[in-house]
Amino acid sequence: MDEQIVETLRSGIQRILPAITDLRHSLHAEPELGLETVKTSLRICEALSGTSIVLRDPLLGNDVIGELRGNGGKTVCLRADIDAVPVQEQNDLPYKSKIPGIMHACGHDGHTAMLVGAALVLDSLRDHLSANVRFVFQPGEEVICAGKTLVERGACDGCDAAYAIHDWPGLPLGCVSSKEEPLFAAGSHFEIRVKGKGCHGAMPERGRNPIPAAARIVERLRQMHIELNAAEGAVISVCSFQSGNTGNVIPDTAKILGTTRYLSQETGSRIEKAIRKIVTQEASEANVTAEMDNDASYDLPVLNTSEGYRITRELAERYCDWREAERPYMTMDDFAYYLKGREGAMFLLGLGESAPDLHSPAFDFNDEALGVGILMLCLIALSY
Ligand SMILES: [Zn+2]
Ligand SMILES: [Zn+2]
Repeated sequence: MDEQIVETLRSGIQRILPAITDLRHSLHAEPELGLETVKTSLRICEALSGTSIVLRDPLLGNDVIGELRGNGGKTVCLRADIDAVPVQEQNDLPYKSKIPGIMHACGHDGHTAMLVGAALVLDSLRDHLSANVRFVFQPGEEVICAGKTLVERGACDGCDAAYAIHDWPGLPLGCVSSKEEPLFAAGSHFEIRVKGKGCHGAMPERGRNPIPAAARIVERLRQMHIELNAAEGAVISVCSFQSGNTGNVIPDTAKILGTTRYLSQETGSRIEKAIRKIVTQEASEANVTAEMDNDASYDLPVLNTSEGYRITRELAERYCDWREAERPYMTMDDFAYYLKGREGAMFLLGLGESAPDLHSPAFDFNDEALGVGILMLCLIALSY
């Protein structure tokens, strides 16, 4: 890449950083959940007005998709997720969340601000841009996997490549990291309902207690997790067990909630089958019934292509700080669907080794990382 352009890029970023930091704070103060990102979308549209980026009609109501025309090259999609998490913020910040029970605990305020920043800088450099750049501001990343729907509805149609950032506590501040193939896992959320027959706690012979069977299921899932995790890194976690509410009544039902994480769809269906078998066996041995729902919306791991990974690594090594990710992380991200059938990569942006974990009530995106994120997004677009 022409070093002169990189210099222009760096000074362009310095110029907009104060405004982008303000934008990040205003998004942080008014977080929105799921697909209801009304104010967030408005702020994004306001920030992009006055540029030559052409916005198209939303595909999910509150998504923002815009395109900057380059000089006839390929089309590159840059994606930011824009939704928040149902967590009560514990930080005491001038811009702390004004919405009770909701906060930007996953740093999507940072993702959004960085993509707006990249859009503004690339707009000012559009004479040097061969590629068309599609900016996708996506709601509903947390839990509802809206990225899958957005891609199915055509958000990425005509794009040759797609890239996205996820901020990453634990990684040195401003450091860029990624790996080839799976960076993040696929997974499912399951619910198991064990049904017996409630009765007086003094007369267990008059009922069928669902709790022992449910407890055996939990223990067998723990064993299965230990074996699978050692063999192939997969995860089975039971996260909730609910049954009964007093000490002398045997309840009718027991409910188990949990999540599985895996690196291939084949492993995912094998795990689901194995859990179903355990559930059926334990229920029938205890003369109770059981049913299971398995929501595998996030059934695709984030699979960075070798070309997408190479471009990201070379730019980061040359212009930022690079650290190879040694193994995939078992978190999930619906950016996986943007990479279905096209090249590209998701990469991690370090927020500092002692930064609070994602989804923690003490989390806050580190503004010091904004500039590096914008730089990487711009460099990727300019490299096409
Ligand atoms: Zn998250
Ligand atoms: Zn996230």
